Amino acid sequence: MAKVGFVGLGVMGAPMAGHLVAHGHEVTVWNRTPSKAEPLRQLGATVTADLSALAAVCEAVFLCVARDEDVSQCLDAMTPAASPGTLFVDHSTTSPGAALGFHQRLSEKGFRFLDAPVTGGSMGARAGTLTLFVGGSKADFEEVAPILQSYAKRAEHVGPGGAGQAMKMANQIAVGGALLGLCESLAFAQKAGLDLAQARELIGGGAGGSWAFDHYGPKILARDWAPGFSIAHQRKDFGYCTDMAQTINASIPGTLLVDRLLEVLEAQGHAGWTTAALYEVLLAKGFEP
Ligand code: NAP
Repeated sequence: MAKVGFVGLGVMGAPMAGHLVAHGHEVTVWNRTPSKAEPLRQLGATVTADLSALAAVCEAVFLCVARDEDVSQCLDAMTPAASPGTLFVDHSTTSPGAALGFHQRLSEKGFRFLDAPVTGGSMGARAGTLTLFVGGSKADFEEVAPILQSYAKRAEHVGPGGAGQAMKMANQIAVGGALLGLCESLAFAQKAGLDLAQARELIGGGAGGSWAFDHYGPKILARDWAPGFSIAHQRKDFGYCTDMAQTINASIPGTLLVDRLLEVLEAQGHAGWTTAALYEVLLAKGFEP
């Protein structure tokens, strides 16, 4: 594929698109807020004023926007101008049901679609070391896999349409548990009068350690709540997890608890903070499950 497009230049999308340019691909980008596309123009990407102009010149289009409805709007704006067979690869985290709908809708119109959510956080996006869970046609995945290597340390086909997002939901359940373990442990250590930096290092280096300890622990020490992964996005994902859990009769009590804790911060107007701010809720005595 000579020409690729990237839609959604937020915390994740901007560095991912930058890696595509750095790997020598001919990249066209678009972002709803145009100013966020300027750094990509300086790196060598072509910036378009609207989505149809991007779709008209690309053989593959990568998206990293936000929710189900945002992906849907972007696809609707692109398909009238896209060439038959164009491959759309969605890196946003959506509900598995919506992903399945995108597969069906696009295939009826003669396009191809992969649901390809990512994990590894903003640090992984900047370093080009994301992990991708890909659902859809294996042949389409194999065709695009060399391009995905621009920002992924690991990209795997995990099943048919929607399976990538189902794997992402299972991932988010694990992420929520690790986040709670980190924040609860460090808030407890703080109240016990322990040295917080020492606690993070000692506990993080042992059986209690996790990716969250390594990457969010320093943000807790600095009380730096800039995203990262926003509370709004985490709660969006928990909503999708909850819906799917009901459909498949799965039990996710830990996820529901973490969601309630994050809801406290959202109600205080902090939806844009990073999820590690959950530490603040646990530090401020009063929350009872
Ligand atoms: P973000 O910083 O909030 O960026 C969201 C991007 O989507 C922005 O470029 C935004 O445009 C665009 N967008 C949202 N709604 C749109 C719409 N209706 N039409 C067109 N563009 C729209 O979010 P992010 O952290 O990069 O996350 C992006 C996706 O990746 C989400 O689905 C998230 O759950 C997932 N994800 C995030 C992380 C993470 O650590 N941040 C990790 C894994 C997965 P504007 O600039 O105009 O607002």
